[in-house]
Amino acid sequence: MGRDSNIGWTDHTFNPWLGCTKISAGCDHCYAERWSGRFHLVEWGNAPRRRTSAQNWNGPLRWNDQARAASAPRTYDGKKRASGARALGHRQPDTDRSDRTRVFCASLADVFDNQVPADWRADLWHMIARTGSLDWLMLTKRPENIRRMLPPDWGYDGYPNVWLGTTVEDVRAMRRIELLREIPARVRFLSIEPLIEALPDLPLSGIDWVIVGGESGQDARPIAEEWVRDIRDRCVSAGVAFFFKQWGGIRPSAGGRLLDGRTWDEAPSGGPTRARLAEGGAPPVRGAPLARKSPHVVSGI
Ligand code: SF4
Repeated sequence: MGRDSNIGWTDHTFNPWLGCTKISAGCDHCYAERWSGRFHLVEWGNAPRRRTSAQNWNGPLRWNDQARAASAPRTYDGKKRASGARALGHRQPDTDRSDRTRVFCASLADVFDNQVPADWRADLWHMIARTGSLDWLMLTKRPENIRRMLPPDWGYDGYPNVWLGTTVEDVRAMRRIELLREIPARVRFLSIEPLIEALPDLPLSGIDWVIVGGESGQDARPIAEEWVRDIRDRCVSAGVAFFFKQWGGIRPSAGGRLLDGRTWDEAPSGGPTRARLAEGGAPPVRGAPLARKSPHVVSGI
């Protein structure tokens, strides 16, 4: 079963398993549930998850080889990595992420779902530790589970190639931000998609990147320009990278993605932002434009 990653803020999408349970308003029109149902892959909700194929699990190893070859292997300090060094160099200073290959994990599941067998997640962490040329973007609606599901060697700063993110679709879901902030991570991000109501007082301390998008599909809930503008302005003021994905509508591209006459394609490029500085971090680095790369096909799900 082939699948393209056509999400604008990542290069690849990896699904280690399929299946999930709806937990909040952002799940109402779950794309993954519809996709899974169309192909009769897994029962949604309180049912066993389905691990994806060994062929699918080979994908990140291949992407890692490609990324390493394409970037004349760079470490986080910008120096060339010794030839053949595959192991992840933990605790290296990171100064530039803008040209690193990103993997979104996962679009058809939740990586911190407590109905997933623990050994599957251990295999996933092992894979992540072996693929140091990739940046892994782990997105969840269950940040309360993250801490107890991290690998034993996560350390005080987290793996240097893992970004932790949580979804915030409405005011009620803003409580997830506080939970995310408690977890050490090199990059923390918010996926505000689908944005279904205004988010006044959105807290950005400890957050490096914000992605905003409107809902798409037959029953897409409307989004208001002022909601997006308010979040954008907060990000600009706090020095947090801001990416506006889409207005949404019947199709993802229906409304385009211009906000005030331009696109917003920022992503974290290096050290802590001003919001991180407020926590006592290093000097701020503004978000850099995201270099869009060709999506790769993941087959054999
Ligand atoms: S958490 Fe994500 S994958 Fe799981 S039901 Fe909700 S929208 Fe779907």
